[in-house]
Amino acid sequence: MPPHPTLSDGSCLSPAQVQALEHIENDFRAAPELLQNIVRGMHKAMDLGLSKPDQTLAMLPSYIVGSATGNEKGRCLALDLGGTNFRVCEVLLLGQPGQYTMQQKKFKIPHTLKIAPATQLFSFIADGIHSFLEEFATPEERQGASCSAISLGFTFSFPVVQRALNYGELLQWNKGFTNPGAVGKDVVGLLQDALHTRGIEVTVTALLNDTVGALMACSYHYPNTVMGAILGTGSNTAYMERMSRITKFDPLAVTPGASAPKRQVCGEDEMVINMEWGAFDNEGDVIPYNRYDRMLDVNSTNPGCQMFEKRISGLYLGEIFRLAILDMVRLKLVFNGKISCALETPYVLDTSVISTIVDDASPDFCEGTPVVEEKLGLQFTCAADRYIVRRVATLVAYRSARFAGAALGAVVLRRDDRLARSTSEEPLTLGIDGSLYEHFTTFRENMVQSFRETVGEDNMTKLRIVLTKDGSGVGAAVAAIMNREGKCL
Ligand code: ADP
Ligand code: MG
Repeated sequence: MPPHPTLSDGSCLSPAQVQALEHIENDFRAAPELLQNIVRGMHKAMDLGLSKPDQTLAMLPSYIVGSATGNEKGRCLALDLGGTNFRVCEVLLLGQPGQYTMQQKKFKIPHTLKIAPATQLFSFIADGIHSFLEEFATPEERQGASCSAISLGFTFSFPVVQRALNYGELLQWNKGFTNPGAVGKDVVGLLQDALHTRGIEVTVTALLNDTVGALMACSYHYPNTVMGAILGTGSNTAYMERMSRITKFDPLAVTPGASAPKRQVCGEDEMVINMEWGAFDNEGDVIPYNRYDRMLDVNSTNPGCQMFEKRISGLYLGEIFRLAILDMVRLKLVFNGKISCALETPYVLDTSVISTIVDDASPDFCEGTPVVEEKLGLQFTCAADRYIVRRVATLVAYRSARFAGAALGAVVLRRDDRLARSTSEEPLTLGIDGSLYEHFTTFRENMVQSFRETVGEDNMTKLRIVLTKDGSGVGAAVAAIMNREGKCL
C-alpha cells in the first residue's frame, strides 16, 4: 500500500489516524508467505479429507466421473434450489461445445414453506415442475404419452452426503430453511415421491452442488476444465481429482435406493469432488484471525464454522468493514466520533457497497458517497473521513481477494499433472461464478494477481479463468445427460 497522500482538501491525516490505519493494515495483510502457507495448508487438508470422512474439508465425491466433452446432446430438465427462489429449466444441449438452448421459469418460495414439513416443500416444487411442463412440454409429454420419462438434474445448494449421482442424504439445512423431516433423508427420493404422487413423468437422475454445476457447465464449453468455483454469498469449489487419490471412496459400496454403478473405474479416472472449502482452516492453524474476524465469528449463527468463507465471501465482507469502521468511530478518528443506529446494526452493509466505494476511481468516490451516507445514516465531514472509509474498505476486500486467489491457485497446483499437459492453445480452465467475481472489479483483479503469484507467471499462459454463470441450469443438464450416457457412478 502506498503512503498516505495529502488529502483532497489539502489536509493531512492526524498521527492517531495514521497509527490506527497502520494497525488495520497489519490486521488485513496478505503477504506472499501467508499465501504460500494457504497453499500448503490447503493441500494437507485436501489429502486428509480425501482419506477419511468427517474432516475439516469434507471433499465430497460427486459420482461424476470425467468432465464433459462438449458433445453431450439431448434434452432434459434442470431444477435449482438454494435460496429465495427455485428455478425450473428445460435445457437442450446441441452436442457442440457451449451450444444449447434454454427456457426457464422462476418460483418464489414463501417463507412459510421454508419452515413447513419437508413433504410440503417438495410438493410445492413438484407443482412448479408441473406448471412448467404445462407451459413448455411437448403435447405427448403433457399427456404422459411419450415413451420415457423426462430426466432431471437437481442442483441443490445445501450440504449433502451423496452415495450415488441420484442419491444424497441431507446433512443440515441452512439459509433460512428448516423443513422438518428432511435431514438424514435422500433429497432425490423426497422430490421423486412428490413427483410420483402427482403422476408427473419426470425422473431425477442427477443431484449436484452448485460448484459441481459450475464445473460441468464450464467443461461443456471447454473440455479442459479442472475446477468450478463460487464467489458469491458464500464460497466453495469443486475440482477434478484422480480416483487413486480419493482413498476414502469405495465405488462398489452398495447404497439402498441408489441405482447400481453404471461403470467400472480405475485409478487414473477422475471424479469431481465438492471440496466444501468454506470450512478450510476452521482450526486457525494457517491463517491468523484478526480482532474483527473474531468479533464476526463470535456473533455469527455458526461460531467456529466456515472460517475461510467468513474471510472471503459476500455475506461477510460488508460486516467486517462495519466492525472496523465502528472501531475507528469509537476512537473518534472518523465521522467526528458520531455513532449512528445503522452503524451499530450487524450486517447493515451489503458487500456491493464495498465495491461501490473501492471500484470508484474518483478522489472522493462520488458514486459511493450517497450510498454510504444513506446506509450508515452518517454524513462525511471532511476529506479524511472519505479517505479512511475507502482505505478500510480497500484493505478488507484486498485480503479477501488475495486469499481467494491463493486458494484457487492451490487447487490448480494440486493438479500439476493436468497443468503440465496443458498448452496456451488448450489452456487448463477454471469456471467461476458469483457476484464478487463478476461485479467487483478490484476484487477480481487482486484475486487474479494473487492467483498469478501462487501458480507462477510461467503457468499463467496455460491457464484460463472463465465467468460461468449457468452452472445450476446447463451444468445440471450436462450431469443428467452424462449419466444417461453412462459416465457417472
Ligand atoms: P448467490 O451466491 O446467493 O448465488 P451472488 O453470486 O449474486 O448470489 O452473490 C451475492 C453476494 O454478492 C451478496 O453477498 C452480495 O453482497 C454480493 N454482491 C452483489 N453484488 C455485488 C457487487 N457489485 N460487488 C460486490 N459484492 C456484491
Ligand atoms: Mg449463485
